[in-house]
Amino acid sequence: MQNAFHGPIRRTKIVATLGPASDREGVLDDMIAAGVDVVRLNFSHGSADDHRRRLKAVREAAARVGRTVAALGDLQGPKIRIARFQEGAVTLEQNQPFVIDVSLERDAGDATQVGCDYKDLADDVSPGDVLLLDDGRLELEVERVEAPAIHTRVKVGGKLSNNKGINKQGGGLSASALTDKDREDLKTAIDIGVDYLAVSFPRHGDDMRLARDLLGEAGNDIGLVAKVERAEAVADDDTLDDIIRASEAVMVARGDLGVEIGDAQLIGVQKRIIQHARSLNKVVITATQMMESMIESPLPTRAEVFDVANAVLDGTDAVMLSAETAAGDYPVETIKAMERLCLGAERERAAQQSQHRIHEGFTRVDETVALSAMYAANHLAGVSAIVCMTATGYTPLIASRIRSGLPIVALAHTEVAQRRMALYRGVVSLPFDTLSLAPTEFNRHAVDNLISLGIVKQGDHVILTRGDHMNAHGGTNTMKIIQVGDEID
Ligand code: PGA
Ligand code: MN
Repeated sequence: MQNAFHGPIRRTKIVATLGPASDREGVLDDMIAAGVDVVRLNFSHGSADDHRRRLKAVREAAARVGRTVAALGDLQGPKIRIARFQEGAVTLEQNQPFVIDVSLERDAGDATQVGCDYKDLADDVSPGDVLLLDDGRLELEVERVEAPAIHTRVKVGGKLSNNKGINKQGGGLSASALTDKDREDLKTAIDIGVDYLAVSFPRHGDDMRLARDLLGEAGNDIGLVAKVERAEAVADDDTLDDIIRASEAVMVARGDLGVEIGDAQLIGVQKRIIQHARSLNKVVITATQMMESMIESPLPTRAEVFDVANAVLDGTDAVMLSAETAAGDYPVETIKAMERLCLGAERERAAQQSQHRIHEGFTRVDETVALSAMYAANHLAGVSAIVCMTATGYTPLIASRIRSGLPIVALAHTEVAQRRMALYRGVVSLPFDTLSLAPTEFNRHAVDNLISLGIVKQGDHVILTRGDHMNAHGGTNTMKIIQVGDEID
């Protein structure tokens, strides 16, 4: 079907990290036109002014291209890093001793020792622990702790350069999730107007609740994203669910998480996080190395094709690109490839069928309407779209937890809600100005909108949800099945 979206409507959303590659002349417009739904501003790199400038450019480009694009600010968090080497880098040999000494001068590292920016490291490690450096490329085993020095032996050696990250295998580094820098960056995020804010390395729901408190009134409209990247966050279901409940979305942050729990564990954990998020009515992003080879190559590997596809089949709302779009040679081609692969995976029956909450009782009227609408849409012949008139996006969120092949068109009363929904799988969010219309005209106007966009045509069924009181949160209490072409009131 040809429509305003020039082909089938992609359900899985694409998050693209901004950086020097997307700063290149014309690239941002092309990336957004190619399908970016959410941009990530990475507070681990760049200044407040860089982020402000980039977000302004995104808003302008999105308006030019005519797409809804949300912004996700990503706090650096307590990523623990070694300090620096006199020579910039050293090579560690297998079985040599190596000392991490938190009292060492910042630039004094050499082939026998290096400093560290996390002053409590010696309290958090004990003999036998394995420390992983540079995303797990090097391995050190702790032999003795003589605070402030940690004596280790190199298990896997290699080149080690300045400021590389340290993870402890199995987790257990106790640094608080919100550093002083994060607290500053959080204010910047509110000030420049992000739609989502990601907290790195939360240990439990309390870290997310603290972030919510810090956002306060001024950051009320910002959705919180918990990056699940510590072993303790996935150690048991209670901790994971507490983190999910305290957030609007979660990220399967496979980079750091994989280092802490090991790559073999990551497979099941990705599926578990996605499934838990969806069943708790939250949104989930799958992140890191999805198209890694496209940093330098115009085509993905077959393994990457299947990684993206599997995340889609697992039920992720969004897939994320990091260095591919921030620093790679082919940012636009990467978005195009991702769009193509998501569409391919979404054609599979498994991506469209749902058992979601089929054996559960419901307690809320709006949830019941949202879920019933999806059930009806998935079962009634000839339905081409679900349309939700929504103030906050809650009904589309609930509806989009159910798998379907049909678009959920959210008619949003505010731009804030419209952008928030840019992350929801299967949801197309459009502006809907109810102020200039009489309430009796809403339904007719909504259907006309879909016809003009080419999403529905004469004779199709449309399932519409709305409340008696527009603009009220949680007001959805009506579901209506409309045949396009019939008299509508
Ligand atoms: P990062 O988070 O890119 O900020 O490290 C994602 C991850 O760890 O996978
Ligand atoms: Mn990370």
